[in-house]
Amino acid sequence: MQTEMHKFTRAAIHLGFALGLAFFGSVVCAQAPAQVPEWCRPLPRPEYKSLQRVLPDDPWFEVYKVAPGVFAIYEPHQFEETISYLIVGNKQAVLFDTGMGISDIRKVAAKLTSRPVVVLNSHNHDDRVGGNWQFAFVYGMDTDFTRKNAKGSREDAQTEIAPDQLCGDLPKGFNPKTYATKPWKISHFIHDGFKVNLGGRTLEVQSTPGHTPDSIALLDRAYYPAPIWLYRPETDLDAYVNSVKRLAALAPQIKLVLGAHNIPVAEPSVLPRLVTAIQAVRSGQGTVKPEGEGKAIHSLDGFNFLLAASKKENN
Ligand SMILES: [Zn+2]
Repeated sequence: MQTEMHKFTRAAIHLGFALGLAFFGSVVCAQAPAQVPEWCRPLPRPEYKSLQRVLPDDPWFEVYKVAPGVFAIYEPHQFEETISYLIVGNKQAVLFDTGMGISDIRKVAAKLTSRPVVVLNSHNHDDRVGGNWQFAFVYGMDTDFTRKNAKGSREDAQTEIAPDQLCGDLPKGFNPKTYATKPWKISHFIHDGFKVNLGGRTLEVQSTPGHTPDSIALLDRAYYPAPIWLYRPETDLDAYVNSVKRLAALAPQIKLVLGAHNIPVAEPSVLPRLVTAIQAVRSGQGTVKPEGEGKAIHSLDGFNFLLAASKKENN
């Protein structure tokens, strides 16, 4: 195990939960004209120019090779700008999130690897699990939240395809009327510390609750910029602070952080800065701008946190 650990001192961490830096562009302006939503205008993001693009012909996904055997599968035409990751070992591959379920992510994964693909989710929000139903083997964190969301839903999915949520065309054959998060079967329940051996590369599950009770990060002893969404009812701010503290403690051993929205790569130094920023915001520092109903963007040191008004008042 020691040698195993050594191999991964070039560590990268896959942050599944909404961890992020600045990007005010992604804040949708309610009165913006329906045709080109505000968040869509600054796209494509310049950060992608330096990344190695693969499968350039896919009409919905943009795929980038971000590290050896690690592919970022980005969905730039929808507001979430979801990024899923395919992490390939010698024996099998993990698909870390399956995206919006708007296009066929299984087909993309099959083009990137011939090895069997198992699914792990950073957490079970609709933008992470849309393609889960397509896969034979899906891991799930052993939480009630995970079990409940595995039943699928139509409501959350439908709000994702409102005109102000889209930037460009939906893929051919996509039916907006029937669009829903399809239910899937959890093949195997997992806990903090669970390891997946891909052959020549082992991923370790780090439980990082906060954004949701079942949020995880994957540590490849093998990252991120956007507002951090912490306003949903299942969000627990105390838990979130503890989780980012835990990841920040790992920062000295980490080479690269891969995030789940907007931009795939960031420096590990972002982690301790994130801890400082969320704590300062909770103690009332930073600038506050109302955002939608009962929410506000709290900004400090380049980080933007989308918080519920009531949660903030508690502190
Ligand atoms: Zn989420």
